[in-house]
Amino acid sequence: MVSMKFPTEKMSSESSFLFFRFMNNRAPSNKRYQPTEYEHAANCATHALWIIPSIVGGILLYLLSDDHWEEISAWLYGAGLSSLFIISTVFHTISWKKSHLRSVENCFHMCDRMVIYFFIAASYTPWLTLRDLGPWAANMRWVVWVMASGGTAYVFFFHERFKAVELICYVAMGVFPALVILSMADRSGLCELLVGGGCYVLGIVFFKSDGIVPFAHAIWHLFVAMGAGIHYYAIWKYLYTPVNQPTSTAR
Ligand SMILES: [Zn+2]
Repeated sequence: MVSMKFPTEKMSSESSFLFFRFMNNRAPSNKRYQPTEYEHAANCATHALWIIPSIVGGILLYLLSDDHWEEISAWLYGAGLSSLFIISTVFHTISWKKSHLRSVENCFHMCDRMVIYFFIAASYTPWLTLRDLGPWAANMRWVVWVMASGGTAYVFFFHERFKAVELICYVAMGVFPALVILSMADRSGLCELLVGGGCYVLGIVFFKSDGIVPFAHAIWHLFVAMGAGIHYYAIWKYLYTPVNQPTSTAR
């Protein structure tokens, strides 16, 4: 009986060893999770890969611009998109290579979190600027940047102190500006915006799964890249290609 069970037990302990060598134990709530070497490499690679495409994508939108507002939107969006991937890659590289420079790592960790707010504001900007909006909704053009600045100040003062609040702030910043859809006459691209937003929301599950799922943070990065890719496609297709370009008079 015992000899029959043994190979199965051995196999399962071997496979769980293989599984767990890619992941460390979950960190206590007041500490940051320490990724394994494999996870560090994956965290760097999954965002570094998108730096060049995001810069090229921003330039492409700028070149497709027909007026000043399209140029400004392309600049802001391209800057937000590429900053997200650049700052994330720099932070993860510093955190991997460790360092005697703990304060530098901490500073970049804060920047990594702050840039998410600006990335969300930048992602909304082309829609808020280039689409016709109702009178109250038009204010969202500057409200998103005030929200991003508020989020940045929050990270500066309370970084890693109240993780649940931090998550609620990101979700609020991501969802609240979408209310302008209610006053948007032209709603083309809405489906892509929802699917892209869904990628971010699904990704949050992995963002919160360090030490539970191997490579959880790298998987979160991939969901971010997928969401950003879908949103880029929607901006390019519905706001910058000649056939679908809005004929706004309100700008
Ligand atoms: Zn990251």
